Amino acid sequence: MELRKDPITRSWVITGDDPSEAGMRPESACRFCSDAAPSLQVIAKSPNAPGVAWSARSVVHPTPLYRIEGEPGRRGDGIYDCMHSVGAHEVLVENPRHDRHLWIASDDEIAHFLRVAAERILDLKRDPRIKYVSLFKDYGKNAGQEFSHPTSQITATMFVPRRVLYELRAGREYFVSKERCVFCDIIQQEERQAQRVIEVRGDYIALCPYAPRVPYEAWIMPRYHDSSFERAGLNRPGLRTNLAALLRRTLQRVRSVTEDFHLVLHTSPSSLHPSKNLGYWKTIDEDYHWHIEILPVVQSKARSYTFKEVYYSPVSSETAVKQLREAKIDG
Ligand SMILES: [Zn+2]
Ligand SMILES: [Zn+2]
Ligand SMILES: [Zn+2]
Repeated sequence: MELRKDPITRSWVITGDDPSEAGMRPESACRFCSDAAPSLQVIAKSPNAPGVAWSARSVVHPTPLYRIEGEPGRRGDGIYDCMHSVGAHEVLVENPRHDRHLWIASDDEIAHFLRVAAERILDLKRDPRIKYVSLFKDYGKNAGQEFSHPTSQITATMFVPRRVLYELRAGREYFVSKERCVFCDIIQQEERQAQRVIEVRGDYIALCPYAPRVPYEAWIMPRYHDSSFERAGLNRPGLRTNLAALLRRTLQRVRSVTEDFHLVLHTSPSSLHPSKNLGYWKTIDEDYHWHIEILPVVQSKARSYTFKEVYYSPVSSETAVKQLREAKIDG
């Protein structure tokens, strides 16, 4: 696999002929359940809770898209740009138990998972080659779920993924003209209007965005300004009671509508990368604001091509929020 840059949109794509695509292997015994699994390279784990060997842990992805060894070999080919897919690809095992998904796990267990996630992001950001660390989760057949065990994945890349890059640029532009964080402004207005707020829990808020890309899209954000999840994520006192609980409750709400979803954490890019010297992200700590996006996958009729180019969400956020707020959830 290699990375190629679209010269028009400047987005990086990962492409190549993947041999594993040819025959999807069925998952027999779960490789993430057993502690004895010799093939797993454990990178980090959270201190064990009573009665279990570990609470959440990170392992090397069995078939990584990005590999830590080697040089990126960034090169030009006429007007084109490409490089090897150097980086990191890890599986974050959210829970030692096979059936404890985030929406039914205890707040302690979720907090362990969030802490391991923060530690891994911090650690990967120490590599000066890395520009961005992504954390995401795909759940359900229609969302591209890869393993049946409760897992999320982390990728560390030498480029900033397109969607994040849009956000970073837009956040900076807003800051340049208003000297304020656009995310803080959104939160303030949403709390004032109270039309799209799903729930507020301590320092954290869950809301339906004004312009959703998909029906029932939900964001979770800190109500205080902070550009990076991993910095505050580790020590914030309300993490367990508020962020973990809000994540669990929001997922329960979303799952009252549909089983399948994508979840992604957006946090600030690495500030160790040499491009920092170019002044790219000089005001990053003031203009960016970390958040979690949940994108439910709602089965819908096939859409015309236009709807792939322009997001089309046939349920308004104002309707979605009512349904999510009223969803029956436990605890
Ligand atoms: Zn398992
Ligand atoms: Zn902010
Ligand atoms: Zn985002």
